[in-house]
Amino acid sequence: QDRLAVATPARVAAAWPQGVRLPPPAPPYPAPPWPDDWPVLAAAHDGHLTPEAMLAALEESGLRGLGGAGFPVVRKWRAVMTQPGPRHLVVNADEGEPGTFKDRWCLELEPYRFLEGMFLAARAIEAEACWIYIRDEYPKARREVETALAMLRQASVPGPPVHLRRGAGAYICGEETALLESLEGRRGYPRHKPPYPGEHGLFGAPTLIHNVETLWWLPEILRDPDAAARFAASGRRGHMGRRLFSLSGRIRTPGVYEAPLGITARELIEEHGGGMQEGHRFAAYLPGGASGGILPAAMADLPLAFGALEHLGCFVGSGAVVVLSDQDDLPEAARNLVRFFRDESCGQCTPCRLGTQKAARLLEAPRWDRALLTELAQAMADGSICGLGQAAMNPVLTLLRHFPAEAVP
Ligand code: SF4
Repeated sequence: QDRLAVATPARVAAAWPQGVRLPPPAPPYPAPPWPDDWPVLAAAHDGHLTPEAMLAALEESGLRGLGGAGFPVVRKWRAVMTQPGPRHLVVNADEGEPGTFKDRWCLELEPYRFLEGMFLAARAIEAEACWIYIRDEYPKARREVETALAMLRQASVPGPPVHLRRGAGAYICGEETALLESLEGRRGYPRHKPPYPGEHGLFGAPTLIHNVETLWWLPEILRDPDAAARFAASGRRGHMGRRLFSLSGRIRTPGVYEAPLGITARELIEEHGGGMQEGHRFAAYLPGGASGGILPAAMADLPLAFGALEHLGCFVGSGAVVVLSDQDDLPEAARNLVRFFRDESCGQCTPCRLGTQKAARLLEAPRWDRALLTELAQAMADGSICGLGQAAMNPVLTLLRHFPAEAVP
């Protein structure tokens, strides 16, 4: 259960009574020389790679938003490009989904590739400015990006002004409209949609919002005229493309792994995770972080891809696969996740604010009231403004649906 523990401020304070000591700043490493080492961005600037060509490549690649929602990237771009300017590009680097750490990997280890993707998208939509909203619990990632941005300016890499903003630890600010509210200086309450950010986003302007990893893929997909087709063909079981999976739990080698969309959890564990840890038998897994549900090991041969698990009440979301073993207490894992949503609910709407509190209380009972939990989950899904309240009960519902009765209290 320690792996699913939520880093609430109280827990962090207990674990770090002297305060968190940050490692010394990373030595700055220079930006690759412009334009020789930026072939894709240079092509976009000299007119060889037009916005229309980028749209065609994105369409062919099948790239989807990798923050969790999986919306086709090309449709997001088109929606913004058809709106009158000024336009903004916002980068959601507020990676807070439990079990997800692949954006941190991109930011800390490949900041220039991520920034090239950001400038490519900004170029395509003719953004006035780029805004990076980065979670403050990622101090090293922030330093790497700050350093890279300073180096870019020294190297005269062209691009619009970039504003780096630090989040303040609220999970809900990873929701795109709450993030916009926070960027505008208000409390991070999700907005009602429509209007969507593509028409009415940051400061009322059309805004393209992308997750870090989505932008990180762009230089590869736009590299040459065949790159998009190669990317699309690199999926498995008929699914298009690849992505970064955050793989954790009772496996030997947890980490961030690039793998085809359509790979199964069992394949991820065997091909990348080094198999199960000594003494642990594979029992269950979270296919998509805290809100993507829980599935039994018997269902580990399903493709991990957008749209492939929805009929089971699950989704792959941000690609966080958490592996649980026979030594894990599954009802306690579900309880823990619901407590997390209770603590992180922004409180704006009643079904979520009170629903998560009531659910957490109901789950403490020695015997779960299945009918009441199911009814409560339906009310929350129907009446909540944003995805947090709508999906908060997924761990419980999937546990009830896919596991034998004796596995549930
Ligand atoms: Fe806030 Fe929850 Fe309502 Fe979302 S569903 S707006 S997190 S109270």
